[in-house]
This record gives sequence, structure tokens and C-alpha cells, in this order.
Amino acid sequence: MVIGELLSGASRIMKDHGISDPYKEALILLSCVLGCEKSYLFAHSDETVPAENQEVFLGYIEKRKKRIPVAYITGKAWFMSLEFEIEPGILIPRPETEGLAEEILALAMLQNTESVKLLDMCCGSGCIGISAAYYDKNITADLVDINPACVRTSRDNAARHNLRDRVIAIESNLFKGIKGKKYDIIASNPPYIPSDQIAGLDDDVRLYEPLTALDGGWDGMDFYKKLAKEAGRHLNPFGHIVLEVGIGQSEKIAGLLLSGGFGSISVKNDLQGIPRIITASVSSVPIK
Ligand code: GLN
Repeated sequence: MVIGELLSGASRIMKDHGISDPYKEALILLSCVLGCEKSYLFAHSDETVPAENQEVFLGYIEKRKKRIPVAYITGKAWFMSLEFEIEPGILIPRPETEGLAEEILALAMLQNTESVKLLDMCCGSGCIGISAAYYDKNITADLVDINPACVRTSRDNAARHNLRDRVIAIESNLFKGIKGKKYDIIASNPPYIPSDQIAGLDDDVRLYEPLTALDGGWDGMDFYKKLAKEAGRHLNPFGHIVLEVGIGQSEKIAGLLLSGGFGSISVKNDLQGIPRIITASVSSVPIK
């Protein structure tokens, strides 16, 4: 079969199985099998695909029919235009989280110093801290996760982008393993889905993505409560905390941050107009 036939056939199969963007996914999967850019597939739709590659591609489509996410099939995900290694057990980077990385870059620029210490708490694949350090040479980042697979993958991803000298990954249950360390910016996209909403998530997420990276306790607030209470102790004067938040959570989290001694709270929407990124700074009163 030629490239064009494989793409249209696979799109049809995936459409019949309720995949919402089948052609785009077929392009990603075939470009991964052939090790080429997606644009190559458009320009060479009459080119014959070798039988062994066809077989691998059809195997990928079978997996996708079972709702295994594309990123787990290919082992790759894109975030802030950078490629990240990903595997089952590690949360797949989401487009809305790019707003968090952009906010870090804006804050780092305003710090007016040549060295900005960033903490990416609950780092998963490491995409937030790594992309921030990649785009701003003044940033050094500690990436923290409780899951050893996330720490290993973050380390590999830092190496992939030649950032081993400015990015380190640490296995720690929140701040327990980084006692005494201080940062200029603490960023986090913690688990925030209320436990009773997990059952209603899309099959792709519910069946295959790590529950520990999604479930934020009964009201989704478990991690925000801990972060609001503990982060101040780990921030330098004029430091900031930046958080991704779930739908309808921003006001409650702003309240938690105020009680944790933070001020100057601002909220930014994602591309769908949902309040998504909260930024706050340590107030002038020292936090005990
Ligand atoms: N945004 C993710 C989702 O909706 C959740 C990520 C998180 O809990 N931090 O699947």
C-alpha cells in the first residue's frame, strides 16, 4: 500500500472507533513509523510503504482502537515545541500546561537577575521545568516527583535537551526531600481532579494515564492545600508560586494562597477561556 491509502484507511478505522481527530493521529503515527516529518507524508502520498513498516503501523492502529493514547504508543509527546520522552505511568503533557511554562518565562524575565532558581513540583515528564530552562538560560531548575519513573524520565528528557548542567531531577514526596532549599519560582501542575470525577474522564485518560498524577482528593484540593502551606518557606524574597488549576478551582485556590501568606494573586485563562494559571507572590511579611 502507498502512504495515502494507509492514511485514509487508518483514519476511517479510527473514526469508526470514535477517535475525534483520526487523520491527524494517523499522520503522527505513520510519521513515527517511517521516521519522517508529517509534511513528507503529504508530499509523498504515492510512495509505497515497505511491508514491515505497514505491519508496525497497523499494530499502532490496533492499540489506538483500544484507546491507548498516541503518546504512549509512540513514546513521544510535544510541549512548547520540544519533544519529550514519555511512557505509560507518566502524565502526558497537555497543551493548556504550556500557559504555566509561559508564565514562568515571563516571571523569570522580570526577576532582573542572571540566575533564577526554579522548582517544578510534581514534575511528571519534566516538561515544565525543562522547557523553561531551555528557553531561558538564566534558569536553573530542580524537578521533583514522588514517582521514580518520573524522576528517571525527567533526567533523560533534560539530557535530551542538553540541560544536565542546569536541570536536576529529585525523588521526593513534595518538599520532604528538599528541606532547606530555596527558590525564586515554584511551579506546579499537581493532581487536581476531584476523586468522584475520575470515573467520568475520557477512556484514553481513565484507562491509561496514572491516577496518582490526576486524583487530587475528594475536592481536588489536596495538593494545593499542602503547597499553599509549605511553599512560602522555600521561596526567596520576592519569589513567586505559579500553579495550574482545574476547572472552577481558581477562587478556592486563591483563598488557600492568601491564608498561606501569599499576595498579589493573578489568574490567567487558557485558550478555551477557562481560568487555568494562578500566580502569587510571597508577601513582605516573612512566612514562619
Ligand atoms: N489537565 C489534566 C486532565 O484534565 C489533569 C492534570 C492534573 O490533574 N494535573 O486530564
